[in-house]
Amino acid sequence: MPGYSGGVIRAVAFDADETLLDLRPAIEAALEVVRAEVRGIDPAAELSRDHLRDDWNSVFAEDPDAPVPHIRREALRRSLARFGLEHHLDTQVEAFFAARFRETRPFPDALAMLAELRSSYVLGYATNGNSIAERCGLGGEFAFELYAHQNGLPKKPSPAFFAAVLEAAGVDPHEVVYVGDNYRHDVEAPAAAGMRTVWVNRAGREVPGAVVPDAVIDRLAHLPEALARLAT
Ligand SMILES: [Mg+2]
Repeated sequence: MPGYSGGVIRAVAFDADETLLDLRPAIEAALEVVRAEVRGIDPAAELSRDHLRDDWNSVFAEDPDAPVPHIRREALRRSLARFGLEHHLDTQVEAFFAARFRETRPFPDALAMLAELRSSYVLGYATNGNSIAERCGLGGEFAFELYAHQNGLPKKPSPAFFAAVLEAAGVDPHEVVYVGDNYRHDVEAPAAAGMRTVWVNRAGREVPGAVVPDAVIDRLAHLPEALARLAT
C-alpha cells in the first residue's frame, strides 16, 4: 500500500528517541551511574547490565502502554530488590534520570536540519517517551510538543495520538509528514491517520511491513531534500 505522495507539506512532526535524540548512550551512562551507586552502597551487590536490561524488558513486556517513567522506576525497583536494596529506590531513580537527561543529546545533524526546515514548515515534536525537549537540547525548536500521558494522551500507535498531532499542527492530514525510526509507531500508525511518513532507517533495514514509507533516510541531514521531493 503506497503512501500518499505529492502535494504541499505544511507541517513536519518528529518522533524523539532515536530519531532526533541519540538516546542509547544516555541510557547506558545513566545505568552505569546506578551500578556505581549500588556498588557504593553495598560492594557485594554485583548489579550487572544484564540484570538492568532484563528487568526493563520484563516490566515493559507486562504493560507496554505504561508511562515510560513508571516502567523505569519499576525496573529499577526489581534490580535493587535482587540485592535487598529497594529502600534506595527513590535516590536511584533520581540519580538515573539526572544522568539520563544530562547525557541526552540530539544527533549531530539534528539542529542544523531543524533550522533549515523551520522557514518552510511548522515543526512539531510528538513522543511516547519522557524526553522533554528542553531537557534534551531541543528547547525552543518546535511550534508544538506532545507527550504521551500528558493530558491523557495515549501512546503511539493509538489513533488518538495522531489525532492530537493533527490538531496541534492545524492542517490537513496529507499536509503533515511524520518522521521517525520505529516502523510500527512512526510509519504504519501515522500513515493510517492519513499523514505522509519518512522512516529514519539508520541501520539500512528492509521495510518490515506492507505500508511503504513515502521516503526513507539514513541520516537527518537528508530530510530537507526528501521533503522537497515529496512535495513535487
Ligand atoms: Mg523513536
